[in-house]
Amino acid sequence: METKSRYRTYSQYLREKYGEKVYKIPLNLPVTCPNRDGILGRNGCIFCGEEGTGFESLCNKISVSEQLDQNIKYIQEKYKAGKFIAFFQNFTNTYLPLSDFKGYMGEVLQDNVVEIAVSTRPDCIHDDYLEYLKDLQYRTGKNISIELGLQSVNYYTLQKINRGHTLAEFIDAMLKIKKFGFSSCVHLILNLPWDHEADVIEGAKILSALGVEQVKLHSLYIVKGTEMGRQYENGQIKLISLEEYVDRVITFLEYLDPNIVLQRIIGRAPEENTLFCNWGTSWWKIKDMIDEKMEHTDSYQGKKFNYLNGKAVKHFVPEKR
Ligand code: SF4
Repeated sequence: METKSRYRTYSQYLREKYGEKVYKIPLNLPVTCPNRDGILGRNGCIFCGEEGTGFESLCNKISVSEQLDQNIKYIQEKYKAGKFIAFFQNFTNTYLPLSDFKGYMGEVLQDNVVEIAVSTRPDCIHDDYLEYLKDLQYRTGKNISIELGLQSVNYYTLQKINRGHTLAEFIDAMLKIKKFGFSSCVHLILNLPWDHEADVIEGAKILSALGVEQVKLHSLYIVKGTEMGRQYENGQIKLISLEEYVDRVITFLEYLDPNIVLQRIIGRAPEENTLFCNWGTSWWKIKDMIDEKMEHTDSYQGKKFNYLNGKAVKHFVPEKR
């Protein structure tokens, strides 16, 4: 029997929304990122490896429809699945010319795809793309969600990781996504070496205040050959312990609006080519540690969600007689 989670899980949310288990299919487009092609920078974020974030995807030389078909066939045979989310995962998918972007979206409109998720950078959200997606949603009835990499809300940490955008671009992107009525998912790394617990709390508060629908929490993995890999090997950066990571996730969840869905609370990474990943522990063991500690301390998502809509000054409001 499935035990009740102390935070709002993605699997439960998908069941409620689509009436059954839904599988997310990673798709890989031949696209790059303005932080790599020279527009903003050539080196990318200091943790980003050559493969970007899509190590689970098929090669981008295979057509999108073929990637989708191959993955769906495999999952259908293994899990008897019937509904899927086409997830354009890797790099900055709205950085493509609009005509190319439209062409790729057009390859995933089969009946068993119930949602299209598009991952991108906050500074690559543009009205033209959102208008097209709105029209696509209207014409096809497929839900559209936009995933934004943010990683940290700390302005200085964003500089340290060479992100190439600040918190302002993220806020602008979120407001646009909300205006168009799309669902949103934001990615944060909770153990970046320059962030403290206060940044984690502020992250939960900002996402809650902006009305983000979903969050993906990642633990940092350090890839060989990256700038962060070099800093790690030279002893220039120090990482928090696994126990501290567990505490940070729980703190984040306690401050987060209880309506926000958690797609993930711990990252996954390939072992090869990685200098550091999840303290050498499997992701599901870390998830169990978080679940167990929440149970033990009676912690739950939203326990400290008491700061919006004037609640932060509740102590100064005179009591009614
Ligand atoms: S924005 Fe994403 S794809 Fe671009 S360099 Fe950073 S992590 Fe890599």
